[in-house]
Amino acid sequence: NNPEQFDVVVIGAGPSGALASSLLVQKGWRVLVLEQQIFPRFTIGESLLPQCMEYLADANLVAPLHEHAASLGFQFKNGAAFHRSGENTAINFTEKSSPGPGTTYQVKRGLFDKLLADNAQLQGAVIRYQHSVKDYKVTDVFENSSDKNNTDKNGGATLLVHDAQQQPYQVQARFVLDASGFGRVLPKLLNLELPSNFPVRSAYFSHFVDNISDENFDRNKILITVHPEHRDIWYWLIPFSDGTASIGVVAESERFNDDEAEVILNRFLEQDPHLKALLAKRELIGPARSITGYSSNVSKLYGQHFALLGNAGEFLDPVFSSGVTIALKSASLIAPLVDQYLKGETIDFEQHYAKPLQAGVNCFRTFVTGWYDTRFQDVIFHTEQNKQVREMISAILAGYAWDTSNPFVAQSERRLNVLAQLCRT
Ligand code: FAD
Repeated sequence: NNPEQFDVVVIGAGPSGALASSLLVQKGWRVLVLEQQIFPRFTIGESLLPQCMEYLADANLVAPLHEHAASLGFQFKNGAAFHRSGENTAINFTEKSSPGPGTTYQVKRGLFDKLLADNAQLQGAVIRYQHSVKDYKVTDVFENSSDKNNTDKNGGATLLVHDAQQQPYQVQARFVLDASGFGRVLPKLLNLELPSNFPVRSAYFSHFVDNISDENFDRNKILITVHPEHRDIWYWLIPFSDGTASIGVVAESERFNDDEAEVILNRFLEQDPHLKALLAKRELIGPARSITGYSSNVSKLYGQHFALLGNAGEFLDPVFSSGVTIALKSASLIAPLVDQYLKGETIDFEQHYAKPLQAGVNCFRTFVTGWYDTRFQDVIFHTEQNKQVREMISAILAGYAWDTSNPFVAQSERRLNVLAQLCRT
């Protein structure tokens, strides 16, 4: 049997895969998405940034998101609040220097990812759940291509797939987008994996009925709390609109022992007096989980007939909730390039994909590094901040890390150093 052929095969139906698929079917291409799980499935990463809304708008996804937000328990979000040993501060994303949306949602990712994937399917993408990609091989000549004289443009890839019954089959694509997240399918198969520059950290987390009664608690913001003794340990509290919340703690892996995840999570929650009081009546729902060594990198983001999206490329760190934004940015950058490529144009993926994507990732990297070495913590908790500077910082935390008119984007390292020094004197 000849393998089935598609213009594009996308590995993984998470945010980057679903958005890229929607954008490519809108351009008229035949897109197959292979997803190894059944949706909805649990995944972590629930706090979106307002910048996301622009990418979702390109795939007509903002209206369904607003429409279903209340029934799915998604929480309106307008900023980030921070607590460190009695100090409180908050960043309001609507007060930011970059243009664009200033609000978004805190979402249950299983339901959010299903909304995006269903939308891609509605727009014409074929999605096969419980189909797992096992192998990738470059295919020299793509028989059904429109231009049979151009073997380079007719090239593609053959993927080995296992269906829900573990039966193997092959499928061919002129271009493959690896959106497999921490599955990192092509980085593993093609030996592209690089270690992250960040130390190995772990996160312990779960969902709770939070039962928060403190009137000062703002459910419209993610709350980031710095551990009272160790400034490199932090907690997230992401409220949803149905009285539940996602709660987690992050630290270098060696700070955790091998107790059960629930025991570790509760132990750390009891160590911060503010969180302990706020969450005194919390009730655990669902299992506590952990994830370790999630920061990762790759030697290149594209190659012959493929590109890596979202976490299948680089993942930095959860502290500023940048993961889904970067994943959606990667999809919105790659889709028009793949469209041009499939039309036979020569594409410089370095110039038009890798470099622009990495510009924003590198900006986030500066602030993540500054968070753990505490330069950026001192900026955040310095409340007498100049209004203009605060709006520039707010823009980055709202996800506008590609807006080079913001000096904290254009020269992030230098600007952060100067500002941290000012805040410390
Ligand atoms: P994913 O969402 O991971 O989707 C990949 C899909 O590929 C999955 O559905 C998987 O089943 C499928 N797949 C994998 N292997 C295969 C295969 N072989 N064949 C077929 N399918 C396959 N981000 C935020 O924006 N906000 C946050 O608050 C946030 N918090 C986080 C907290 C922690 C502790 C961590 C570790 C991350 C957090 N993130 C957060 C990051 C965020 O979860 C990811 O960046 C985001 O999910 C990446 O999207 P993606 O589309 O690249 O991949």
